[in-house]
Amino acid sequence: MQRLRSTLDRIDRKGYGAYKDLSGSHDFGLFVLFVDRVQRDPFAPPTLIRIRTRENAFDPTLFENPVRRVAFEDFLSRSVEREIRRIVRGDRGSGGSGRVEIQRASQVVLPRTSMVVEPGYVEARMAVGLPARGRSVDARAARTVLLEELPEVVRRGLVPAPEGGVDGVRARLNVETVEDADHVRRLLPELGLVAFVADGAVLPRESGASDRPLRDGAVPFESPGEYRVEVGLPNRGVVSGMGVPEGVTLVAGGGFHGKSTLLSALSWGIYDHVPGDGRELAVARGDAVKVRAEDGRSVSGVDISAMIGELPGGRTTEDFSTPNASGSTSQAANIAEAIEVGTSLLLVDEDTSATNFMIRDERMRELVRREPISPFIDLVRPLHRSLGVSTVVVVGGVGDYLDVADRVILLEDYAPSDATSRSREVTNRFPPRAPLAEREVRPPRERAIDATSIDLSRGKRQSARSRGLHTIELGRERVELSYLEQLAEAGQTEAVARIIREWAAASEVRGVGELVREALGSISMKGLDSLGSFQGHPGEMSLPRPQEVAAAVNRVRSLRTTPQS
Ligand code: ADP
Ligand code: MG
Repeated sequence: MQRLRSTLDRIDRKGYGAYKDLSGSHDFGLFVLFVDRVQRDPFAPPTLIRIRTRENAFDPTLFENPVRRVAFEDFLSRSVEREIRRIVRGDRGSGGSGRVEIQRASQVVLPRTSMVVEPGYVEARMAVGLPARGRSVDARAARTVLLEELPEVVRRGLVPAPEGGVDGVRARLNVETVEDADHVRRLLPELGLVAFVADGAVLPRESGASDRPLRDGAVPFESPGEYRVEVGLPNRGVVSGMGVPEGVTLVAGGGFHGKSTLLSALSWGIYDHVPGDGRELAVARGDAVKVRAEDGRSVSGVDISAMIGELPGGRTTEDFSTPNASGSTSQAANIAEAIEVGTSLLLVDEDTSATNFMIRDERMRELVRREPISPFIDLVRPLHRSLGVSTVVVVGGVGDYLDVADRVILLEDYAPSDATSRSREVTNRFPPRAPLAEREVRPPRERAIDATSIDLSRGKRQSARSRGLHTIELGRERVELSYLEQLAEAGQTEAVARIIREWAAASEVRGVGELVREALGSISMKGLDSLGSFQGHPGEMSLPRPQEVAAAVNRVRSLRTTPQS
C-alpha cells in the first residue's frame, strides 16, 4: 500500500503511460491488489485488476459443493456490483477516469470469471479507469479511487460481517435457492417431466426490455389440479407446482392471456435465477431449446430432410446450405441443429414461427401440389416417439394442433387450467380439416466443421470477440445472434467467441457435437479462466450452454461443413 502511494506520488502529472509502474501486486493488509494489465490511455479499455482477500472467513457450507459454490460466487459478484454503485463516484477526469466495474450479471445464476471462491481466499476480477487530467496521470484522484473507494467496496461487498458488510443470511438464501432449483431440474427426467413451475411463481417481466419481475398486478402462478405435483427440496422442503409431462403439450388461450410469458419462463428455466426473480422454481430440462423462424440466416450443410423434402431444381435437403434461409427452412434448420447437439425439449411459439412450417390446411394441400415442407404438426409426435424429443407448443390460432397434443393447457386471465378433455370434444365435433401425414423421423445426419473456413484475420491481426450480447466478430465477419433467445448475458457471448477462436486456430475438420462436448468438458475441468488470454486476468466471461455454442458457430456465414458418416 505504501509502495502504491509513493509510486502514485512519483508519477503525478506525468504522461499517462507512467501508470505502467503500477503493474504487479500491492498488499493492502485485508487484501492483495493485482494490477494485471494497465490501459494505455484514459480512453482505452480500462485497467484490469484482481482483488484477493487475505482469508476466506465465510461459512464453508456456503461453497461446500459445486452448485453452491457457483451460487455463492454469483452472490458475491452482485454484492460487489452493488457496493461499486453505492461507493464509487466515477467520472474523475477524461475518458473512463475513476470508473470501477465488475462483470454485469443478468437475472440468471451462472459460473463467471468475475469471482472465484477458494477455501483460502476470495478473488474479485474487476476493471478500473485510472484517472487522468487530459492525458496525464492524476495521482490525487487515483489515490481516492484505489486507496479509499476500492478498499471500502471490498469491506462492504467481499468480506463477511462482523468485520465486513456481507450479510450471511442473504448469502445463504441465494445458495439455497439455487440448490433447490438445480435439484428440481435434476429430478425432472425420473419424474417423466420436461418442466416444473412452482405455485406462486411470478412469470411476467417488467417490460419487453427488462428481465426483472413485473411488480404491479402480476398474477402468481397456480397449477391446474390435474398437473399438480409435489417435490421435496433440499432446503425449502416440499413444494407444489405444475409438472409438464414428456410428450406433446399444447399451451392454448386467447391473445394477451399469458401464453408466451409461460413459454418464455420455461425457456429461461434452463438456468437458475436469483432470489426475488419470481422464476426461482420455474425450471425446465437443461437442454431445452426454443426454436423459431429466423429468415435470412445462413445454413451450412444441415440435414433438414425430416422436415423438408426436395427443393426446387431437385436440390436435396440432407445437406442443405443457403446464405439466406426462408422462414420455414430456417426453423427447420434450427430444429435439426438443436437435435444434432442434443435436446430433449423443443419450445415453439406460434408468434415466432413460420405459418407454413407449422401447418398446411386442406385447401392449400389441394392447390399447391409441389410443397416440399412436412409441417411441424406431422412431425411433433414422431419426434417424441422416435427421438424422445418432447415439445411444448404455444398456439392461439391453429386449432389443428389439438389433434396431436397429449394434453392441452388453457390460459385464461393468466390462469392455467387443463383443457385436454374439452379439446377432445372439440376435435370430435370439428374433425381435422386435413388428415395428418405423420411419418417416422430419424435423427439428422451429423456434420463435421471445417475450421479452416472460419477466417479470423482482420488486417494483420487475428480477432474473435463479442460485441455485446448478440454479436460475435470473427475477423471481418459479424455473426448475428439476436435470435438465440436463450443467451442470457454478454459474458456467455464472449466465452463462445473464444471457444470458436480456439477451433479456428486448430484448423481441424471435426464433428460439431464432438467439438462442443470437448470444449465444454475442458471448461468444466479447467474452469472458465482457461479461455482467458491475459496473464492472471481472464476478462469477463460466463458459462454458455453447448446449445448456444453450436448455434453460434452454425451462424457463421463462411462456415463449411461436410456430412459425417
Ligand atoms: P399471449 O402470448 O397469450 O398473447 P403474453 O404472454 O404475451 O400473452 O402476455 C400478455 C401480457 O400479459 C404481457 O404484457 C405480459 O407481461 C402480461 N402477463 C403475462 N402473464 C401475466 C401474469 N401472470 N400476471 C400479470 N400479467 C401477465
Ligand atoms: Mg404470444
